[in-house]
Amino acid sequence: MKLKHLEMTLQRLRGFSRPQAGLEQYQTPAPLAARLLYHAMMKGDIVGKRVCDLGCGTGVLAIGAALLGAASVTGIDIDKRALAVARENSALLDTDVTFLAADVQEGGCQERIGACDTVVMNPPFGAQKAHADRPFIDCALAVAGVTYSIFNIGSIAFVDAYIAQRAEITEKIGGSFPIRRTFAFHTRDVQEIEVEILRLKRIA
Ligand code: SAH
Repeated sequence: MKLKHLEMTLQRLRGFSRPQAGLEQYQTPAPLAARLLYHAMMKGDIVGKRVCDLGCGTGVLAIGAALLGAASVTGIDIDKRALAVARENSALLDTDVTFLAADVQEGGCQERIGACDTVVMNPPFGAQKAHADRPFIDCALAVAGVTYSIFNIGSIAFVDAYIAQRAEITEKIGGSFPIRRTFAFHTRDVQEIEVEILRLKRIA
């Protein structure tokens, strides 16, 4: 599947019906999701791999990974309503994805989720709750050798220090995230947030 085709296909997916600010529920726009996934595929991290999506929301990354040929895909989110939309989205595109309700902050990721080869995720950036992204990084490093994650621009120094001896950043891909007016505290109709996609490789 070509990048443009993946992007157009992911465009068909439904987003959050009633997004919750506290959980930082922003669906990854199709162009950014497709870019992350396509890049991961070119690096050999998707086709035939066990892929996990932490904080999968309505499933765009998980479903995209399945479309690109992952061997199995598991999506995890704390919000059952988002997971219901994710299941509908997966059915719409006829993909085989397992969606599980779990709180990534609770720890015990390895036992609950099992091993994956690759994590793809767009976790909360920590705008509402400081350091909300840390349990996602911990969980990703616990379950997979390779992680692709979207972060706010300028996070690289923090991420690098946080993962310290556990993993290294092997790639940085720039992108932008148009956020539509969703919550009362948003002042513009659309705000472009600059982001960076980082590839983290666990140090064995
Ligand atoms: N990955 C999706 C959603 C991004 S929004 C996409 O790319 O479109 C962030 C997601 O993290 C939301 O769906 C939210 O419900 C989920 N989330 C927030 N805190 C969580 C937690 N502690 N455990 C699991 N999921 C959580």
